[in-house]
Amino acid sequence: MRLDWIQWKRYAKSKKTLIFGMTDSVSHPEESLDPADWEAFRALAHRMVDDSLDHLKTLGERAPWTPLPPVVRAALTSEPLPRSPQSADRAYEEFLTNVLPYTNGNRHPRFWGWIQGNGTPLGMMADMLAAGMNAHCAGLDQAPKLVELQVISWLAELMGFPNDSSGILVSGGTMANVLGLAVARHARAGFNVRELGMQGTQEKLTVYASAEVHSWAQKAVELFGMGNSSLRRVPVDADFRIRIDALREMIAADRVAGCKPICVIGTTGTVNSGATDDLDALADLCAKEKLWFHIDGAFGALARLVPSLAPALKGIERADSLAFDLHKWMYLPYEVACVLVRDRKIHEATFSVTPSYLTDEGRGVIAGGLPFADRGVELTRNFKALKVWLSLKAEGVDKFARVIEQNVLQARRFAERIVKVPNVVLSAPVSLNVVCFRVAPPSLSPEQQDALNKELLLRIQETGLAIPSGSKIAGRYIIRVACSNHRSRWEDYEALASGIEALLMAGGLTR
Ligand SMILES: *Cc1c(COP(=O)(O)O)cnc(C)c1O
Repeated sequence: MRLDWIQWKRYAKSKKTLIFGMTDSVSHPEESLDPADWEAFRALAHRMVDDSLDHLKTLGERAPWTPLPPVVRAALTSEPLPRSPQSADRAYEEFLTNVLPYTNGNRHPRFWGWIQGNGTPLGMMADMLAAGMNAHCAGLDQAPKLVELQVISWLAELMGFPNDSSGILVSGGTMANVLGLAVARHARAGFNVRELGMQGTQEKLTVYASAEVHSWAQKAVELFGMGNSSLRRVPVDADFRIRIDALREMIAADRVAGCKPICVIGTTGTVNSGATDDLDALADLCAKEKLWFHIDGAFGALARLVPSLAPALKGIERADSLAFDLHKWMYLPYEVACVLVRDRKIHEATFSVTPSYLTDEGRGVIAGGLPFADRGVELTRNFKALKVWLSLKAEGVDKFARVIEQNVLQARRFAERIVKVPNVVLSAPVSLNVVCFRVAPPSLSPEQQDALNKELLLRIQETGLAIPSGSKIAGRYIIRVACSNHRSRWEDYEALASGIEALLMAGGLTR
């Protein structure tokens, strides 16, 4: 017997009984997760927006980072599974007291640690709108697909890529780089990696990057089953740029040893010091050696928006694939990054799989296939493109370019200011927006200086003065101020410099 939906409901009702083991809707009202009282929910939702905006508006009045009080830590780690409702209002109150105040500080005007983004109020609202739409962004044929394709073509234009380039938005620079390297391997391995995997060759595939390459590259070659030893770390020059002569020699030596070089990774904006490799020279070398040219431009690529900075990135437009974040130096809320691939066919050939339940029928919801499922490894994806689209339209590219340039000028000015503090020396040239320095009183040994700088950094963070981060350059501990913050004003940098001076003076370390 075949029943249509109406007949089925009538049948179920007449039976007043269990169907497939479930109680029918007559004896038990059906539920959903929409609010029972939309007006009460609307009031709460408006409060959430107001509170978030108030918090953002007053960030600078608080310390950038506050250690988590033990009671809050306990409250957040020992709560039993909530089996019965506590109400949205109460849960939200707890968010306000226990969660919202305790972030790592990256939205604050005096945050310059690692390379982090600050987020924007418009980006926050765009993420809310995207969550409200809850669009499934594998590429189903609706407006969100077109918005993402539009954003990718804008980004390709900004990076000097051809307008028929391929690309996809992903969660971050790591994922964007991983996808780029996967395409590189597919294109240059010389055998069918998709079918055979790494068992398909006796040759060792090798990939080249400077010794300053970000840690994503090691994770990627390990994930791909190529092993950490397949990532060749090429020495850098005094400006922390990859040494082209050393790279050429390593490739030649590997070929002699029976390896198969497939890809060179160039970096614009190294994570330690913000250095940019000679991208033109790398593009020439890759063309000559028939290697894939991938660029990690996580934050550095955005400097291409600024006319005065773009020449230093010459050659970026020649990459086969380019990865960059929009949640770092384009300031948008986490998460969003992009990978561009010059050749769409190779990009899609790396990932595309079409199971019977996802076939393009030429019409209907799945018309045109699922372009984003074909350009990466994820199927269900959220609507990251909306915040990029809204922000670029609202502010215009030139506004972003001005704020990026402002950060570079702030970095240069801060470098000039911080070396006026007695015993402070720069540890790397300020090639972009990162200032690396170190307090080096001649009366202390290098090891004692390391300990001093580490202690100084922790006090700067813990006293709520500011958030720089630490690292090592040439084996020595350094303090790093990365200017990728659209909220910082010169007075914030000045506060850090004079705060450091005061801390050193208190320790008798300015002589
Ligand atoms: C931050 C960064 C990455 C990783 O990007 P995520 O967005 O954190 O995944 C890769 N490379 C460089 C140079 C970076 O600065």
